[in-house]
Amino acid sequence: MSVKIGVIGLGNMGGGMAATLASKGFDVSGFDLSEVALAQAKSKGVKTVTVRNQLIKQSDVLILSLPKAEHVEAVCLDKGGITEFGSEGLIVIDTTTSTPETSRKIASALRKLDIAFIDAPVSGGPKGAATGTMSMVIGAEVDDLARAMPVLEAMSTTRVHVGRSGAGNVAKIANNMLAACHLISTAEAIAMAAKAGVAPEKLVEGLNAGSGRSAASQVMFPTWVLNKAYDSGFTMGLMRKDVGLASELADGLDLDLPLSHLVALLWKASSATLADNEDFCAIVQRTDTELFGRGE
Ligand code: NAD
Repeated sequence: MSVKIGVIGLGNMGGGMAATLASKGFDVSGFDLSEVALAQAKSKGVKTVTVRNQLIKQSDVLILSLPKAEHVEAVCLDKGGITEFGSEGLIVIDTTTSTPETSRKIASALRKLDIAFIDAPVSGGPKGAATGTMSMVIGAEVDDLARAMPVLEAMSTTRVHVGRSGAGNVAKIANNMLAACHLISTAEAIAMAAKAGVAPEKLVEGLNAGSGRSAASQVMFPTWVLNKAYDSGFTMGLMRKDVGLASELADGLDLDLPLSHLVALLWKASSATLADNEDFCAIVQRTDTELFGRGE
């Protein structure tokens, strides 16, 4: 009997993951609150359901790709969710960028029902989800990870098991804190060089040949900023959420992290000019609207 996979949350990331798994021969069904997301998934070979209970009941593996920790907690622990309808032996793979405490709380509640919960937040954007080339940082028990591996391997090219439950989200939050910082610091380097006579494209080429490179200079600026496309598929609202999660994590650890603190302030302040549905790369416009604006 083939493994029955359910995907809850068929947005930019979950829709791509579901389509990838379906294209690799898995029996995939998906659920979303949005009719548009359901229709898009259906057009890519994913069976869709409009009753969530049914999907939870029938699945051997459930993948969650939801906006925030609170959505994950509701789907897992609230009435009508996984605690009520999940079968013994179910594996839940949560790819949402969530909080470590949420992952630990859910993993502990589900373990009592013989249901495994793995936090496996992802990098690679919608393109990585749609091509099965994402990277994952994973918090899980070794045995659960081994059982989930065939599905994880079909969705990703790189998987780093960073620790037990919650560790995946600690690592993802640290990663996104750096990405948030690198976008702004790279914008500042480009603005400085431009004013000193070096064109942005040439500077980025130079950075990528040198030690100042990062995903901001190698991927974000060439793909979404310098061409003014701003169409990465990752929103300002979601990145502000992640930067907020980093601040909360750091605050709870009683650390002195002045640079991270400043980056968090800049992202928070950006809500005055950049709506939640803007592309996350638009943060660079705060540095130089002429260089990085859409030019409209
Ligand atoms: P999205 O907004 O495109 O998709 C989220 C989907 O979840 C939406 O279709 C929404 O209708 C659905 N949803 C919300 N609540 C639901 C519920 N209770 N039940 C069923 N469906 C529900 O977001 P996304 O960009 O796909 O991001 C999903 C997660 O992945 C977020 O945590 C995000 O931070 C993370 N992430 C996104 C990217 C990216 O590039 N977009 C990259 C890495 C990680």
